[in-house]
Amino acid sequence: MEKQQLVIIGSGPAGYTAAIYAARANLAPVLFEGFFSGPAGGQLMTTTDVENYPGFAEGVTGPELMDAFRNQAIRFGTEMVREDVEKVDLTSGSFKVFGKKREIEAKSVIIATGATAKRLDIKGAGEDGFWQKGVTACAICDGAMPIFRGNELYVIGGGDSAVEEAIFLTKYGSRVFLVHRRDELRASKIMAKRAIDHPKIEILWNSEISCIEGDKVVKSVTLKNTLSQKEEKRDAAGVFFAIGHTPNTAFLGGQLQTNEQGYLLVKPGTSLTNIPGVFAAGDVQDAIYRQAITAAGSGCMAAIDAERYLAHNE
Ligand code: NAP
Repeated sequence: MEKQQLVIIGSGPAGYTAAIYAARANLAPVLFEGFFSGPAGGQLMTTTDVENYPGFAEGVTGPELMDAFRNQAIRFGTEMVREDVEKVDLTSGSFKVFGKKREIEAKSVIIATGATAKRLDIKGAGEDGFWQKGVTACAICDGAMPIFRGNELYVIGGGDSAVEEAIFLTKYGSRVFLVHRRDELRASKIMAKRAIDHPKIEILWNSEISCIEGDKVVKSVTLKNTLSQKEEKRDAAGVFFAIGHTPNTAFLGGQLQTNEQGYLLVKPGTSLTNIPGVFAAGDVQDAIYRQAITAAGSGCMAAIDAERYLAHNE
């Protein structure tokens, strides 16, 4: 089997940053970018303007930013492999990574496969409807877009993310409605109180959105009361899914420790997983921050941790 020092799995800000650092440290990393699992570059490839990534005063699009990361990683000698990793064997000190075609035995592995925002199969919410035309799964990424400003916005969910996103959106929307399927928020008490007390937020209990309509962009939603089944059509400019994320760990086959939501566990303040030589970075190990900049930072940490591990085990 082909042997390498370091394999990086995942091509978002975490994976590419790990590759930049590892390549500059002469580790000749091989990075599996994915193929069927989604576009190389991860979640930012489906984002339009990124206005909060430091260094870009005028903003930058998600794809442009990821292209720049990727080119920087290649410039220092990262080898990109356009394949999904189907499984890994982490049982021995030398790890086996099985791509669709390429199989590599690596001395260390960085997992940076990210997380996928959960979406609902609502009429009008898909790619053939208003996805990215008023429907998104990231208020912090997309909330400042002109189409949302001064308009009525709907956030679906009842957890901390939904509350945080609703509060964030009050900066832009005329009113923000939190659509929750039950009569009690899952969010922490302090966050829930902030939403309940906020003058621009109204919580729509026992509710769901059954249909999203518009022209070029979202113009209305149909709300359904889950108890009475009554429906009501209302003006709306935006629908934001905030119903949680799924960390992309299926290919690991349960070989690494996770928390109860499936996020990889790392030793706090490091990228070390429970298996020495295997590191985790980015959203696959972060349910809280989930920003490009935090993912990039943790990718840097993983590369430095891997470099130290390899030097120590030479
Ligand atoms: P979460 O806690 O799992 O909440 C998901 C919410 O979406 C729940 O209210 C759930 O409803 C709802 N939901 C799930 N599936 C749904 C469906 N099919 N239809 C309608 N609603 C659905 O996820 P999260 O809010 O993303 O938070 C993830 C973790 O990160 C949590 O541990 C959270 O505390 C943490 N977090 C913390 C902060 C912070 O401290 N500032 C910020 C963000 C996230 P039910 O309640 O009915 O299940």
